[in-house]
Amino acid sequence: MRSADLQTPALVVDADALEANLAAMATRWPGATLRPHVKAHKTTALAHRQAAHGSPGFTCATIREVEGMVVAGLGTDLLLANEVLDTRRLGALVERGARVTVAVDSPETIQAATTGGVREVLVDVNVGLPRCGCAPSDAGALADAARAHGLTVRGVMGYEGHLQALPDTAERARLTEACMALLLAAHADVGGEVVSGGGTGTSAMNPWVTEMQAGSYALMDSAYAAAGVGYAQALHVLGTVVSVAPPRGEMPGYAVADVGLKALGMDHGNPTIPGSQVWFCSDEHVTFAPAEPVRVGDRVLVVPAHIDPTVALHERMHLVRDDEVLETWPVDLRGW
Ligand code: PLP
Ligand code: MN
Repeated sequence: MRSADLQTPALVVDADALEANLAAMATRWPGATLRPHVKAHKTTALAHRQAAHGSPGFTCATIREVEGMVVAGLGTDLLLANEVLDTRRLGALVERGARVTVAVDSPETIQAATTGGVREVLVDVNVGLPRCGCAPSDAGALADAARAHGLTVRGVMGYEGHLQALPDTAERARLTEACMALLLAAHADVGGEVVSGGGTGTSAMNPWVTEMQAGSYALMDSAYAAAGVGYAQALHVLGTVVSVAPPRGEMPGYAVADVGLKALGMDHGNPTIPGSQVWFCSDEHVTFAPAEPVRVGDRVLVVPAHIDPTVALHERMHLVRDDEVLETWPVDLRGW
């Protein structure tokens, strides 16, 4: 099949760009030092590629992702880097032989892990992102509480998410070091082998973690490209031009393609269409001023501003090379 035959909107992944991204990150973080975050692509076929590049373990954001990874045979060492209260489905996976480690940041999440049958945890430490994670000074006491419940504390995690897309790389590096000082201080109180954290934006400047949780690097988005992280745009949303308006009076000409905000994660802003100027998105449409004249029926490649919520809107992605569709992968970790 050719990409010209795909119904649009469709996710298309450039096979060579993907491979280059996976190889580059796996070179920087070889073997178990890279724990790729699957929430960025939600696709077990892609996770198998990451495993082939040497990563034995993965990071997940939801119970559904953990379950899907186990079903796909990728359950050797999964970290649910998130706080969960209903852990029954995780306990069932552990019972069946999967290795699942869960983040805890409170007595309640420790209790939930114990009740649900999870055996291994990381103490999640807040390193500056106002989201999950305990105060660094509370980490040691939480680790003691987890051990008193019979849990194995593998170490700590702390995600410096607020720094990932800072455009000034020197500033990003400086602040990353400060965040990781907090995490390492907590680790001294907690113990265990693992210091888990990091993302695409800090993956080249965070030597303090023992495992890197980057995810977006595989497919990429325009927000990370703007931050100059050095990975190639592997995923585009393929669209079709459905209407063209020539210039009329004061109104410049524009074109409309079938890639609207229901096909794109929009929280990082409008998508880009290389060489064109995107005006706005509505539910099913993107309106743009094309650099070169376009005709109804032409195809366009749209770059999402934020990869994770974009992929989560689609049922499948197509691996392509030179317009040939090599494989079609279900986005099988979607849903909850
Ligand atoms: N770790 C955690 C806990 C995250 O929430 C995220 C993403 O938000 C990441 C790692 C991966 O970051 P990225 O997709 O920016 O590489
Ligand atoms: Mn993201």
